Amino acid sequence: MKEIFKSSLKKNGIDKEWYFKDGMNFRDNTLWWGECKKRTASHEGIDFGYVIGDDGICNINEDFIVSNFLDGSIIKVIDDFIGKSVFVKHEIFNESKELFSIFGHVKTQLEEGPIGSFDNIGTISTRKNIPVHFHYSLVWIPEKTSFDLLAWDKLNSNESVLFIDPKSFKMPK
Ligand SMILES: [Zn+2]
Repeated sequence: MKEIFKSSLKKNGIDKEWYFKDGMNFRDNTLWWGECKKRTASHEGIDFGYVIGDDGICNINEDFIVSNFLDGSIIKVIDDFIGKSVFVKHEIFNESKELFSIFGHVKTQLEEGPIGSFDNIGTISTRKNIPVHFHYSLVWIPEKTSFDLLAWDKLNSNESVLFIDPKSFKMPK
């Protein structure tokens, strides 16, 4: 996935690497903005907001184009606490679970339908006092799960749903 993440920077004309602060990584327990607060639940994905290059670490801006990482179809767009969350299902299966991506805190006009890798999802939604970033989750969801259950609180409390670390994801053979 690392190369795919890097391509999303190239697409924005940024020749740098993603930089992840403590708190931005998968299963981190601290919030990376504000005053060292704990998260209410461990982080179910990674946050993209900073890049590092010769001139140091910089925050991306809200015009950053968020592009899709893996081929699939958008099956739901919901509100989250900063913007919209876009659910993409990938038709990649493992032990009767299907792989989904969730892009959070975006501004998008997209509705349900097919979406290719590197297709635009939208830009970044912002909220006062929270630095510009978008969230990305990769999650195995049991097949035949009702789309009604595709909501953050319901996914977090469902034991058969398995969030994984996008940074170490490898395609199942
Ligand atoms: Zn996040």
